[in-house]
Amino acid sequence: MRKTLKSGQTYLHNVYDRETLLNKLKNEGEHRLTLSMYRYQTIEDPQSLRDELFLFWQSLGVLGRIYLAKEGINAQFSIAESKFSEFREHLEGFFPGIPIKKAVEDDDQSFLKLIIKVRGKILADGQEDDSYDVTNVGRHLTAREFNEAMSDSSCVVVDVRNRYESEIGHFKGAVLPDVDSFREELPVIESLLEGKQSNKILLYCTGGIRCEKTSAWLRHKGFQDVNQLHGGIIDYVHQVKEQGLENKFIGKNFVFDGRLGERVSNDIIANCHVCGKPADTHTNCEWQACHVLFIRCNDCAERLEGCCSEECQRHTHLPMDEQIRLRKASPQNPPGFFKSRRRIAFMAERTGVEPSNC
Ligand SMILES: [Zn+2]
Ligand SMILES: [Zn+2]
Repeated sequence: MRKTLKSGQTYLHNVYDRETLLNKLKNEGEHRLTLSMYRYQTIEDPQSLRDELFLFWQSLGVLGRIYLAKEGINAQFSIAESKFSEFREHLEGFFPGIPIKKAVEDDDQSFLKLIIKVRGKILADGQEDDSYDVTNVGRHLTAREFNEAMSDSSCVVVDVRNRYESEIGHFKGAVLPDVDSFREELPVIESLLEGKQSNKILLYCTGGIRCEKTSAWLRHKGFQDVNQLHGGIIDYVHQVKEQGLENKFIGKNFVFDGRLGERVSNDIIANCHVCGKPADTHTNCEWQACHVLFIRCNDCAERLEGCCSEECQRHTHLPMDEQIRLRKASPQNPPGFFKSRRRIAFMAERTGVEPSNC
């Protein structure tokens, strides 16, 4: 949809509600690829690139969440398989040779809308812009090389993701920083690695983008042997399958689309936040005013009808006008993912069950 603002500026955005979008997708009748890509590359005018990409990608039916900044692009998206080569060709004009990663499992409903946002950075790191050189990165390792490096007992494997991601899946023996967002990550990792400046450091994240910044940061801080898993967990899983390598990743890979997780190994390493039984399915509480992101087992999901607690369940059964009144009166909940520390306090208060400790 193209809309002209009073200033004469053209503004491009989505106008359909969730149900309409879901129906549109269901009727599409074509297999979609779930993809991701990023690149650190100087973009002079991210806003005009944003509008150009939006127009063309919308005509191709691309759906997803894309961030553009002067430092580059970071995108998670889906596209009908038949449109992919046209997409790739157009993309090459802006980001020559950019690697595009395919999700471990496809899901036609991973994304419902196309959202392209211009931001200060493609990955907010909580640091001042010029405090380190983002391009001075560590050595990129393939899955095979990563496995080999891990077998050396003096190496330190570091999960560069958030706690709610590593809680359901990680590499065996990895250091798991207890952080809610990448903004907190760098100083926490630095203190966890205190005294390990000469050890071999092995970093990994979902698709590689967070490792780029983390490895540059660690090198800047005097770490001598910084390595990172090229293409992240997503690519690791593909390589393990294709080359018949040993899989050293246990549990699920958390993903930031409608699925919230892709199974990598059959191990269930987390626990239901309600009853404590083994479980690794993330969902948001059905009660809209709560919307907490939590892990629940199937029994609890059924018993509480998708809610995190009996209290929230009770609210979903109230008459609609009462629900609306309560929603308006409830304190502001954090948008999107409920941050782990607040979630832990929240769940402990409601259930008395300590969160899983893997
Ligand atoms: Zn349970
Ligand atoms: Zn709830």
